[in-house]
Amino acid sequence: RQATSEPTRLGLLVGDGIGHEIVPAAQRIADAAVAAVGGTPVAWVPLDVGLDAIGEHGTPMPESTLVALADLDGWVLGPHDSASYPDPFRGQLTPGGTIRKRFDLFANIRPARAFAGVRAVSPEMDLVIVRENTEGFYADRNMFTGSGEFMPTPDVAMAVGVVTRRATERIARAAFELASRRRGRVTVVHKANVLALTTGLFRDVCHEIGTQYPGVEVRNEHVDAMAAHLVRRGEDFDVVVTENMFGDILSDLAGELSGSLGTAPSLNASETKAMAQAAHGAAPDIAGRNRANPTAMILSTAMLFDWLSSRGGDPALGRAAERIQSAVANTLQAGVATADLGGLASTAEFAETVTARVVRH
Ligand code: ATP
Ligand code: MG
Repeated sequence: RQATSEPTRLGLLVGDGIGHEIVPAAQRIADAAVAAVGGTPVAWVPLDVGLDAIGEHGTPMPESTLVALADLDGWVLGPHDSASYPDPFRGQLTPGGTIRKRFDLFANIRPARAFAGVRAVSPEMDLVIVRENTEGFYADRNMFTGSGEFMPTPDVAMAVGVVTRRATERIARAAFELASRRRGRVTVVHKANVLALTTGLFRDVCHEIGTQYPGVEVRNEHVDAMAAHLVRRGEDFDVVVTENMFGDILSDLAGELSGSLGTAPSLNASETKAMAQAAHGAAPDIAGRNRANPTAMILSTAMLFDWLSSRGGDPALGRAAERIQSAVANTLQAGVATADLGGLASTAEFAETVTARVVRH
């Protein structure tokens, strides 16, 4: 593609609750960063999802939105408050879950990075957890049941873990690609002393893929030891690749050690599509009050920019992502923070400060 002429087209899905405040803030900052590095302005395509979509389309996840997503380069998804959806939507797969499934977004990429100015148990932590998101011990497409769980009798419940070479190869590749653009270290987390066949295959396939990245150093950890290492010396890790359930648990642990819910970004990616999504929820308790911390949403959008530029998209997006990340870090370091971090800034004030720093650099 001609990066300088053809605009990057991104879906903008505001979602529910504080999504109405943090998604526009992230969008404004993204636009300012692209302009500051002289890139082609992003073409945003607003799409309905969540409570607003129930009003307009009779469902929180309209088929028209899913169809439109397929034609775009990437997506920014605000949080959803699916607990407040009316029946029959409440118990269903969330909009984010539906999109992940429909587009096979197999990699859940969760950075855990501490910021100067934000209290953290591990103030030096700067790692990324790359979590396989389609199988493992949250297997949702195995041959037995839809959920991976079943009961042979009313008094016996069983769960199935599924690890395939194909899914492990692609998550391993995502991890090694990322590590080669970071500090060049991958830790493979498994439990092959007990779950020898499933997590053993995961470990072995990760190492096979690793041989294609001679510049990246590979290590192994058992998941239980890894939990302890994260607490004791979390700053030693760069990229951590693991199966679905271990990744779910370890990313909450690392997120908490490195800072707060309001600062934790994430990206969900396949080989061809990616979606920026904050790690936190819609925070209905503070929605509409200009109090939400937009940091996670802003940093998730920067991750999307970085992902797009590293895959042949507009290289200006990579430079814009760096600007956004350093502007957020500088803003937090200067003590400008929202209430969740003990600060006095409103959502709008925080976003304005980041915007000014993106421009000034
Ligand atoms: P979900 O089920 O969607 O994950 P949840 O019940 O875990 O939702 P969140 O919406 O993540 O809850 O909110 C948990 C708490 O953290 C709430 O008190 C909320 O106000 C706070 N919180 C979450 N995100 C933010 C944010 N960006 N800024 C400020 N506070 C936040
Ligand atoms: Mg939650």
